[in-house]
Amino acid sequence: MVKPRIVVSKCLGLEHCRYDGSIIPEPIVVALQQYVELIPVCPEMELGLGTPRPPVRLVRIGKEIRLIQPATSRDLTEAMQNFAESFLDSLPPVDGFILKNRSPSCGIKDAKIYAGPEDAPTVGIGPGLFGGAVRARFPDLPVEDEGRLTNKAIREHFFTAVFSLARLREAASSGEMRALVEFHTRHKFLLMAYNQARLRELGRIVANSHRYPFSRVLAEYAPRFRAALVRPPRRPAVINVLMHALGYFSDRLTPAEKGYFLDLLTAYREGRHPVSTLIGVLRAWMLRFEEPYLSAQVFFSPFPEALVSLSDSGRREP
Ligand code: SF4
Repeated sequence: MVKPRIVVSKCLGLEHCRYDGSIIPEPIVVALQQYVELIPVCPEMELGLGTPRPPVRLVRIGKEIRLIQPATSRDLTEAMQNFAESFLDSLPPVDGFILKNRSPSCGIKDAKIYAGPEDAPTVGIGPGLFGGAVRARFPDLPVEDEGRLTNKAIREHFFTAVFSLARLREAASSGEMRALVEFHTRHKFLLMAYNQARLRELGRIVANSHRYPFSRVLAEYAPRFRAALVRPPRRPAVINVLMHALGYFSDRLTPAEKGYFLDLLTAYREGRHPVSTLIGVLRAWMLRFEEPYLSAQVFFSPFPEALVSLSDSGRREP
């Protein structure tokens, strides 16, 4: 399986680079290491602040949000903005970001903003300077923090998106229409779950009835594919895909098997069962009835199996 490229805050399980010299134990990042290519970064270390260091904070001054180090009275706003700009410019194509939540540098939306450098109340929350620059530069890439990734649904959506974008990057780098058509074919069920209208639009693009060169087709296809994966799929759309898949076997199943599947579907619709239970049943039938088209569909296995079994604490489920 192709390895996604993910930029990650270095203090998330990778290096003792926090202001107090600590590291955040982060089992999800550690588990990801063998399946993705991590690009670690600590923006505060990159500014030469060292570790341990006096902490920095976001301060509202007039209409602006500034990054201040109260102990030294340094205003690091421009330095951080310049670093973010040059670091993001220097990146190879990446598939997503995992950033430290609540950080005035890395936070993507929940860093505290203070009324003053010291002894001042908070006046709100917002993105850190680096995290905000990432969101602004890559609005259609998956960007999450480690806090949100402890939620299974958010985590699985993130993994699905980064692995799908990595597969798209691989197809794009081949320079061949055949690879893009194959990519699209394998992602049809996934797109059906995420966004039916985009599936139709992308199908028209990849059909390439005007015989455009590959670069033009890719330029139309890639941003629309990324946009399709911005929001997680809705349950009714996932049920639609599961029913569509069931249609491949329904004349070969016993009434009891069909009934069992439909009962599981009801349980999923009511939030009593995860979708993985239904996918497991469908995968068993794919093997039994030898359905290579279905087996090739990314929807049934969008990222490595070992990552499915991470629990909400980030540890492997027994
Ligand atoms: S949150 Fe960001 S800036 Fe702060 S220690 Fe972690 S990586 Fe460095």
